Amino acid sequence: LLKKHAAREIAMERITILVAHALQEQDPLLATAQAKLAKKIAMRFQLKLPYAIRQLYCKKCKMFIIPGKHSRVRIGRSETRAVRITCLRCGHVYRKILK
Ligand SMILES: [Zn+2]
Repeated sequence: LLKKHAAREIAMERITILVAHALQEQDPLLATAQAKLAKKIAMRFQLKLPYAIRQLYCKKCKMFIIPGKHSRVRIGRSETRAVRITCLRCGHVYRKILK
């Protein structure tokens, strides 16, 4: 029997693989399905997705958005060091502050 900790570790691994596949997937329907499954696993195991993965989902429509494909990235003024990400599915715009 797997301990909860080990199960969550495996879940996280599956999520990482699913997201990596979704990013490379040419078929947008398949990519969305893989991304949805990844999120479902995260919810079931109550896992907090790492920032790199979280930013791939629109904060409004919760859809998987591939940078440069389903989202438009605009770099703001040089001093703010932030980018504006537009979800091309729902039109939601949010800012991401760069470190
Ligand atoms: Zn959206």
